[in-house]
Amino acid sequence: MKHNYKITELNGNRWLSIPVLDRIDFIRHSFIIKQRDSGAETNGALKEIAAKILNLEKGQVATINQTHSDAVFIHNEECRASEADEGFDAHITNNSGIAIGVVTADCVPILIVDKAKRVVAAVHAGWRGTAKRIVQKTVEKMSDYFGSKSEDLTAGIGPAIGQCCYEVDEKVIEPMKKEFDYLNKFSIQKKENKWHIDLQLINREQLIETGVKQENINIVSLCTSCHSDLFYSYRKDGAGTGRMIAVVMIK
Ligand SMILES: [Zn+2]
Repeated sequence: MKHNYKITELNGNRWLSIPVLDRIDFIRHSFIIKQRDSGAETNGALKEIAAKILNLEKGQVATINQTHSDAVFIHNEECRASEADEGFDAHITNNSGIAIGVVTADCVPILIVDKAKRVVAAVHAGWRGTAKRIVQKTVEKMSDYFGSKSEDLTAGIGPAIGQCCYEVDEKVIEPMKKEFDYLNKFSIQKKENKWHIDLQLINREQLIETGVKQENINIVSLCTSCHSDLFYSYRKDGAGTGRMIAVVMIK
């Protein structure tokens, strides 16, 4: 099977990328995965690695204070999100020279590129963000602020916990069912009060609902819990586990 991703190792760092996104000439992107020689990566270390890979200064890598919200931050000329800001779980920019990133370990990282208007977005979607439709709200803001059209968007859905390992109970399934009438397509009941849901596909469905073409949505089907050699998993390793960062920038 031909993979829709590739893993690169260079100068002691490794990352995953999606060739379809690599071919968009005005951006760079990277899903930075578990490094071979470091311990549990923290936000600071992740920014350093991202800066090194993208050939930037550390200060050019912007992250947000992620709180499983549905708030979307817009970077403009003056304004940059910082860790001190209130919670945001997605950000958008059309500035060049700033990489925007989301930090995950099981949650779904989504990078979106508007090829026509030259706008990029990075989205963090765990089950809460997914239930709050964070990815749809991001696309709406791209449209409101930058005039993006869904049909011009290309998305990369990065490694996340797979349906194989993502077991949830009624606390998760009930709000999801209420929100998505198609949830049955992406959930399997395994036993009483235990379901396995596919967060990547629910996010893909949301993108399709907003008008993004299915052929422009690229999913990396690697489970973060199954592949401990490559990824950190909050579910598998606990809260003290390392984090990964997905970044995108306009050159
Ligand atoms: Zn798995």
